[in-house]
Amino acid sequence: MPYDHRNTVRRTFALALAATGCCAVLAGCATSQASPPSGKAQESQAASQAAQGESGTQSRPPFASPRPSRSPVAAQGSGSLAGRTIVIDPGHNSGNFRHSDEINQKVNIGTTRKECDTTGTSTNAGYTEASFTLDVSHRLRDLLKARGAKVVFTHDGERPWGPCIDERARIGNAAHADAVVSVHADGSAVGHRGFHVILPAQVRAGAADTTKIVAPSRTLGERIADRFARATGTSPANYIGDGTGLDVRNDLGGLNLSTVPKVFVECGNMRDPKDAQLLTSAAWRQKAAQGLADGIATYLEG
Ligand code: ZN
Repeated sequence: MPYDHRNTVRRTFALALAATGCCAVLAGCATSQASPPSGKAQESQAASQAAQGESGTQSRPPFASPRPSRSPVAAQGSGSLAGRTIVIDPGHNSGNFRHSDEINQKVNIGTTRKECDTTGTSTNAGYTEASFTLDVSHRLRDLLKARGAKVVFTHDGERPWGPCIDERARIGNAAHADAVVSVHADGSAVGHRGFHVILPAQVRAGAADTTKIVAPSRTLGERIADRFARATGTSPANYIGDGTGLDVRNDLGGLNLSTVPKVFVECGNMRDPKDAQLLTSAAWRQKAAQGLADGIATYLEG
């Protein structure tokens, strides 16, 4: 399969990224590419981050803010999402390339044991998926907080690698999140374009039991797919999901182990030059974040 990189291990960064295949496989990627980024790629990434006004030490969301008063006037946020908790899971981690031993350790996802985390994919020019997911997640956080939501990240670039996919799921569970969105971009073949949302399959095995989240996650995914298309003007993927922009998987630990409504969003295909043009545009990433926020809000507002 074009988005399964298990059969295409490479040693160089560029080739590794080219072969990474579906980041979708992301949380579920069976093989992790751990070669460090080339100097060129690092420069490109740094330039990209600089262009976005980011530093590698961007402050974390104010998770530790005081508990809101019960007074309606003083309540945290007055928007439509006040009182709601949303967990954002930025896919992968820019440091994963340098921690192959750690991210290749196996964790239990209920149905099987899989690698802790994966490196993710990249554009041909070296803009990494990990940079993309963190940037979109920051934009999404700001939009959700503006609507009064409490936002929790699974990581914010502050960790050297990971978290592992099982920990990513546990963070959403522990937060009793009303919704969890794992942000990704795909690594499929050239010509494969568009976004898709991955929904949890019915899984009941070992530590995994998605029985209670299958239906609400589908609704969440449908709302996001609809709003993402509207906000970005892009179409559902032309290579997966039969044009619906929706796919169901039972091999992703981040979904299998979730006890709260959760979806993965593959915002586009980093390996396709036309999609890459969009994904590397800060303006487009803002639209993508807007689409995600609108979809989440539509879901939570009922
Ligand atoms: Zn990914």
